Amino acid sequence: MTKVEKPRTPRRRAAAGAKSGPSTPEKPAFAYAERLKDYRRTAYAVWEITLKCNLGCTHCGSRAGDKREDELSTAEALDLVQQLADAGITEVSLIGGEAFLRPDWLEITRAIADAGMIPTMVTGGYGISLATAQKMRDAGMAQVSISLDGLEKTHDTLRGKPGSFFQALQTARNFRTAGLEFGCNSQINRRSAPELPRLYEVIRDAGANGWQFSLTVPMGNAADRPELLIQPVELLELFPVLARVTWRANREGVRVIPGNDIGFFGPYEEILREEQFRLGAFWQGCQAGLGSLGIEADGKIKGCPSLPSDSYVGGNVRDLPLQEILKAKELTFNLEVGGTTEGTRPLWGFCKTCDYADLCRGGCTWTAHVFFDKPGNNPHCHHRALTMQSRGLRERVELREKASGLPFDNGVYELKVEPLDAPWPQNDPLRFTADKVVWPDSWSAWPTF
Ligand code: SF4
Ligand code: SF4
Repeated sequence: MTKVEKPRTPRRRAAAGAKSGPSTPEKPAFAYAERLKDYRRTAYAVWEITLKCNLGCTHCGSRAGDKREDELSTAEALDLVQQLADAGITEVSLIGGEAFLRPDWLEITRAIADAGMIPTMVTGGYGISLATAQKMRDAGMAQVSISLDGLEKTHDTLRGKPGSFFQALQTARNFRTAGLEFGCNSQINRRSAPELPRLYEVIRDAGANGWQFSLTVPMGNAADRPELLIQPVELLELFPVLARVTWRANREGVRVIPGNDIGFFGPYEEILREEQFRLGAFWQGCQAGLGSLGIEADGKIKGCPSLPSDSYVGGNVRDLPLQEILKAKELTFNLEVGGTTEGTRPLWGFCKTCDYADLCRGGCTWTAHVFFDKPGNNPHCHHRALTMQSRGLRERVELREKASGLPFDNGVYELKVEPLDAPWPQNDPLRFTADKVVWPDSWSAWPTF
């Protein structure tokens, strides 16, 4: 293979004599609140149309399996489709559980397309036949994301069902044959992280056009499995891996879109969010309720599908029109606070003291909330881990209070700040270190970061 030219990362720029060190974006001078004056919700809704699922994922945030007791009827769902269009939503992504286990899912898909919105879907990919793939395409499904969380053994273990890796790849083949565009999404945790280089190649070879990855965070089933979670200090060894796989994927036609929980303001932002940077955009804090909307199968509305139901449901479309629910405080907490003192008021801990606080507002609200049962202090932050490292310190989290066992619930974790070289706790066989990452020979020509 031809040697691939290495990009000029911050470190390489510095080595080449560039004046500035970090590539983190300059803090903007504009007033965020000003930009939101003419705000209209034109974005993305993620709709859990059923909680029924045919997998048993050990990290499932919604603890899916059985359907909810009182899921929306077909008539209610079709009415909601029109309300979403009226509210200015442009894309609706169907999720579950497993969305296709709901009998009227293709009728809902078609209604979304007929209402002028883009229907998309996230699936575990267990059991989508070629005939079903063709029906999806005919119903107007524009893009599907298949979940792949590791190589076969890891994926099947995490997804709680033998054969689920094989099934997901079979579904990918069926989508290709049917001419249906698809990408993949992956959970990054201490089981999957060592396999990311090879996993990327599997995803590329399956024909995916994109790849979204997120860190597993302690919500739902994952809240009960602290050993799976990437520890804050482990981000120091994870981010160079993410940068390397992202760099290659973007050059081989697999467009990487990191989840909103992957950040923030560290030296690899420009690589991880290459397309955004090209457009002059960068991380500007949580957009829950502004750029996104989450719908639970029984009609409850949140500003983001990942947020814990207890604290972030603003209402139910069975009780109120969607337009009214959108005004609830649970869905407007991000409105007109970015770049303002008001926006930093809920911050605490390290995030309160951070140079990026007014712009970032504690990173992903979901991540921060599920660790500490309140938002405003996000331990999954690369900038933060680097700052702690420069002070000779590291952060770890330990489970203090277990979650209740309901969908989208969370426990409470305790933050431990320790000397960087303190002995690591015993009995932690899944501890993530860079030397556990397997790089096949096919990676030898690709740059490291
Ligand atoms: S420490 Fe907190 S406020 Fe600062 S960049 Fe990280 S998540 Fe954002
Ligand atoms: S809670 Fe996290 S995932 Fe949801 S909109 Fe905010 S930043 Fe994005």
